Amino acid sequence: MKKKFKLITDGGEEFTVEAEKVDKRAFTLKRWKSIKSRLKGSKHPFMADIVKRTDDAFAKGINPTINAIGYKVCCPLHGGKIPSLMVRADLGIWLCFSCGKGGKVVHEGVVK
Ligand SMILES: [Zn+2]
Repeated sequence: MKKKFKLITDGGEEFTVEAEKVDKRAFTLKRWKSIKSRLKGSKHPFMADIVKRTDDAFAKGINPTINAIGYKVCCPLHGGKIPSLMVRADLGIWLCFSCGKGGKVVHEGVVK
């Protein structure tokens, strides 16, 4: 299932994406450490949530997943070929795990 999102960066840049629902996204510990170090210092609310959930999961020995909480799409801001931009529709925020840009969801719609 896809949804259309109008997103705005923290810098005020607006763009539209058609993002795919994420059912399950697993991280290996190695990949998670790399993502965390790359986005270290990010004050984005998305990060606080993801860091807590994922750290908790690893601490409990569970293979951490971001379950059905978001939508993913290739990030048009850095022209990535892997879907690294995650939209948290429930929180109205988004973040690209590759370039680290993030912001708010302006509008959410259905793709016809
Ligand atoms: Zn990006």
